[in-house]
Parts: sequence; C-alpha cells; structure tokens
Amino acid sequence: MDCPNCKTWNPDDKNVCWRCQALLPKPIEKKKKGAATFFLGLPIWSWVVFVIMLILLFAAQCLGPTLLNR
Ligand SMILES: [Zn+2]
Repeated sequence: MDCPNCKTWNPDDKNVCWRCQALLPKPIEKKKKGAATFFLGLPIWSWVVFVIMLILLFAAQCLGPTLLNR
C-alpha cells in the first residue's frame, strides 16, 4: 500500500512507513488470497486432520481384527 503521508509504497504487512515512519492504515481489503492456505472454505490444516482421521479409521477397520485376534 502507499504511505498516506509521503506516497511511498510499503509492504502490506508493515505498520509504519519505512521512509517517514508514519503510521499506515490497516488494509481492510479482501482477505488474503487463500488459495494456498484455504481449500473449500476450510484451512488446509483442518483438511489434514480430517484426512488423518480417515486414515486412522480405515487402518482401525483393517488392522482391528488382526490385532484383536492376537
Ligand atoms: Zn511515508
């Protein structure tokens, strides 16, 4: 974003202008492009947890009888 004071471009994660140290307004724009961190509206980590749960469920179904038969 551009500094409101000196019109210098600043990275979006900066709180103050790197040139004149003026406070930068917080960008209220659209949320970050979540393509990398969000999938179908859920964060990727929740999908990872979901898949791990499915794998554990599947493994329990497959390995459960053999473990019980010991
Ligand atoms: Zn500035």
